[in-house]
This record gives sequence, structure tokens and C-alpha cells, in this order.
Amino acid sequence: MSTRDRHAERPRYMRCLRKTEPEPGFHLEQATKPVPLRGEVLIRVTSAAICGTDVHIYQWDEWSANRIKPPTIIGHEFVGVVEQLGQGVTQPLEVGQRVSAEGHICCGTCYYCRTGKAHLCQSVEIIGVDRDGCFADWISMPAGNVWPIHADIPDRWASVMDPLGNAMHTVASADVAGASVLCVGAGPIGLFSVPIAKARGASRVIVSEPNAYRRGLAEAVGADLVLDPTTGDLEAAVMEVTRGMGVDVILEMSGHPGAFRQALRLARLAGTMVLLGIPSREFAIDWAEEVIFKALTLVGVNGRRMFETWYQTEEFLLTHGPSIEPVLTHTMPMEDFDTAFRYLTSGRAGKIILDFGG
Ligand code: NAD
Ligand code: ZN
Repeated sequence: MSTRDRHAERPRYMRCLRKTEPEPGFHLEQATKPVPLRGEVLIRVTSAAICGTDVHIYQWDEWSANRIKPPTIIGHEFVGVVEQLGQGVTQPLEVGQRVSAEGHICCGTCYYCRTGKAHLCQSVEIIGVDRDGCFADWISMPAGNVWPIHADIPDRWASVMDPLGNAMHTVASADVAGASVLCVGAGPIGLFSVPIAKARGASRVIVSEPNAYRRGLAEAVGADLVLDPTTGDLEAAVMEVTRGMGVDVILEMSGHPGAFRQALRLARLAGTMVLLGIPSREFAIDWAEEVIFKALTLVGVNGRRMFETWYQTEEFLLTHGPSIEPVLTHTMPMEDFDTAFRYLTSGRAGKIILDFGG
């Protein structure tokens, strides 16, 4: 076969899941296969995982309506294979290599980028939000964002390194060694944080979650105590196991105002509360009693540290990878995305991985 024939055979189009109109739902469509620009890497996507953010965009909530400018290909958690290196790519990347990528594309020149805090870049572009994402057969990414996957890390785990990184960044933001930890909310990120906190030496991990299915997953990932915050026994149970002190560290992974207030009451004096969950609105808390006089430390968490969190997450997968398996509840062909979103909106799923074939 001549070179010309081979070029003629290369597909120019690809499948993608796109938000085409400012309304609920996604469309399975054909899009032009991207061509890697200078400094970019063309990746053939093999699996992609669905994030809570994708669910918000699917439902077209207020945040999505303000942020997303359709038409946009959705998705930011993926694993794939390098197909082509754009001009000038100097990173040690090879065609055929398995990779994932940090989905936050930073400017590299602002104060935060230049002081080791690129996760706070003020000109960040997020794939699947501000530009086309990974729910497609191919995606082109800046080489500096591409993360080579270790040979001992299977695709299933590699496809969730992004949310696993959120959990890692959250847990690593407090000193959990020898500490009692309360994880508020057992969505995929809260669930991931349970084995991470244990691997980092937490003495006891308690999970609070109203959804019975997800409480089951929390037990499966090894939580020491799993409680339903709606039944009223949460506060008594936490106080009992902490001998009336409250917990050392709270990981707020729900974003729910009620959960937030309850968690504040369960923190011990001089404890730490790390906040990842994103509330959809402002709400009041008792600052004097619950934060100031308690000498509480509040830590906000944004994204993943580039790339410290990725190294920590890789090391965690190499040493504790099987511990995340219970969270990866479903794998489906990408064409079944509507079913996947139905499972997620009904709360009967942990993490769902879409299979792109190949
Ligand atoms: P998710 O929505 O799947 O999980 C949240 C869980 O909280 C659900 O299982 C829900 O049932 C539970 N919950 C609801 N009310 C509760 C209550 N009163 N007490 C305890 N639990 C309660 O979300 P996820 O994908 O696991 O992400 C967790 C949070 O982190 C979300 O709010 C998400 O938006 C946020 N997030 C933040 C960042 C960041 O950079 N800060 C990054 C990714 C995700
Ligand atoms: Zn920047």
C-alpha cells in the first residue's frame, strides 16, 4: 500500500458526544477529527469516565447555562493512546503510548502559573467545558498536559486519574496520619478519598451519605463506619466513636449546605475541614461558634496540583489500585450514554466508564 493510499484511508471524522443546543441532553454526532497543532499530541480515546460536572452539563443547570457555549464536545476524564505528535513536541512521548491528561489547560504566564500554583491559573481553559473535550474518538492536547500511564496501571484506573486526583488533593490538604476523618458525601470523589485517607494513615474513616446504594459502596471501599445523615443518629454516632471530641479532619465532598453545617458541628476543636464539594448557592453558617471559637482550619481545594497530585495519584494506584474497584460500578459502550446519565441522575451508580472501543 502506498503512503498516499494510507493517507486516503485515515478517517477524517469521528464520533463525539456534543452539547449542540442550550438545553438538556447530549447528541451523538459526527465531528471533524482534530489535527494536532504545534506542541500538541493527538490521542485516540479508548475509555472516558463521566464526572458530576458532565451530569450538570447534561441536565443544563444554571452553572452550565452560564459557562458552556454550545456546540461543545463534553468530557474531561479519559485514557487513550498517542496517535500523532504535533510539531515541536519535546516531551518524551511516543506514538502508541497509553496516556491520560490534565484537563485544565493553563496559560503558563500568570502569577499563579509562575509560582507553582497552576491549578489556580486565572486564564484556565477546561476541556469539555471551555473547549472541546474527550467524549470523542480523538482529542488533541497540549503535550505538557499529557500524562503517560505506567505499564502496571490498567486503563480502567487510568481513566479516572482526574477525579482520583481531586480526592488525593483534598486528603493531602490535611494531615490525616493518625487522625479520625469524616468524609461527607459518598459520590465517586468522596468514595475515592476513603482508601486514600487510609493509605495516608488515617486511624478511622467515617462516611456520611443519604443514598443507600452509595453507603453500600462506602462500605465496599473500606470505610470504618458508614452513616445516614437523614436519620438523626449521625452526630451521636460520631461523638461516641470520638469520645465526645468530634473528628480531627472533615472532608466535605457533598457541596450541600445542610451537610456542611452538620460537619462543622462534628469537627473537634482546632480540627481541619477541607472543602471540595461545591455549593450551588450562598448560605449562612455560625462563624463565631463553629469556626472562630473552635479554632478551626478551613481549607478550600481547587482541582489538582500540577503535577504533584498526578505523581501522588500514580503512586497510590501502583500501591493501592484495587481499592478503587468498588467505585467503578459500570462500563458501557459510548453510544449508551443516555442510559449512563440516567443511572447517575438516579443515584444508582458510582463511576461510569464509557468504552470508545479500539
Ligand atoms: P456527587 O454529586 O456524585 O456526590 C455528592 C454526594 O453527596 C452524593 O452521593 C450525595 O448523595 C451526597 N450528599 C447529599 N447530601 C448530603 C448530606 N446532607 N450529607 C452527606 N452527603 C450528602 O459528586 P462527586 O463527583 O463525588 O464530587 C463531589 C463534590 O466535589 C461535588 O460537589 C463536585 O461538584 C465537587 N467537585 C469539586 C472540585 C473542585 O475542584 N473543588 C472538583 C471536582 C468536583
Ligand atoms: Zn496562568
